[in-house]
Amino acid sequence: MLLPQPIETQSLQHPIFDEKKVNVSLLRLDQIHSGVSGNKFFKLKYNLEEAKKLGKPSILTFGGAYSNHIYATASAAREAGLTSIGIIRGEGLDRKNPTLLHARERGMLLHFVSRVDYRKKNSEEYIDHLRAHFGDFYLIPEGGTNSLAIQGTAEILEEKHREFSHVCTALGTGGTFAGLAKSLNSAQTLLGFSSLKGEFIREEIENLLIGSNIHPKGRLEIFTQFHFGGYAKWTDELIDFIHWFWKAFGVILDPIYTGKMAFGFWELLQTNHFPAGSKILLIHTGGLQGNLGFTQRTGIALPTP
Ligand SMILES: *Cc1c(COP(=O)(O)O)cnc(C)c1O
Repeated sequence: MLLPQPIETQSLQHPIFDEKKVNVSLLRLDQIHSGVSGNKFFKLKYNLEEAKKLGKPSILTFGGAYSNHIYATASAAREAGLTSIGIIRGEGLDRKNPTLLHARERGMLLHFVSRVDYRKKNSEEYIDHLRAHFGDFYLIPEGGTNSLAIQGTAEILEEKHREFSHVCTALGTGGTFAGLAKSLNSAQTLLGFSSLKGEFIREEIENLLIGSNIHPKGRLEIFTQFHFGGYAKWTDELIDFIHWFWKAFGVILDPIYTGKMAFGFWELLQTNHFPAGSKILLIHTGGLQGNLGFTQRTGIALPTP
């Protein structure tokens, strides 16, 4: 159904890697699919299969106006021959918003709700109300994390990645982290960098691991100090880092997830967190569609694909 493009494991070169005696590579999940980028490909894969199996006519999900998940779900549903409904937090369609224009182009029905209604997204009563309104659908929660998503993200690491001692990923809901944790081997450490402010993510991940009966073989580390003010917040330092990374490595990062992860990694590298001899795999979880919308709403230039 969803057909992946080949994913490159790109070796990165920089004098500091030699100085610290580490080896750094980047897993380019951003290249996997033009419309269903990065980790969202893995999170949606089995959910779409399940929706088809259950004979559901459409997918319904939730997201903000610049959401990677909304963009990816619209593309993936179209490719699977399903219709999609996006419950969007916000006033209505801003005609310049590239994320929502793409979603609508892919046939997604956009339904705008107030912040108050949006908060009901996990309530059964509200979902019943949506079913009465839209008819039957397959529900994918905000951010796309459920057990089938974790089954998908457990396939990100392949046999050839067993050689890496450290794997770094961005954290949103933790669904990607949980799947990676499942596939970790005993010699590996998984590092998660939260894009959100707060310690709650530790408990969320604990619950995801318990809920999916995952007992990681390797070590897990979660970092909560690289949020830059919170979800979708940024500082000039983060934006400058993204521009610097683009010049240094020719790789585009986004300011919501991968920029914060790479910044955190760089900080840990400089403070000797990684022992000499470490082989580090950074996961580029995608999300580059958002750069256009970020520039459109802030006026701040970012590299774009
Ligand atoms: C959604 C997203 C994440 C967060 O994934 P979770 O599974 O929710 O933790 C990370 N990076 C990018 C680019 C994303 O779009």
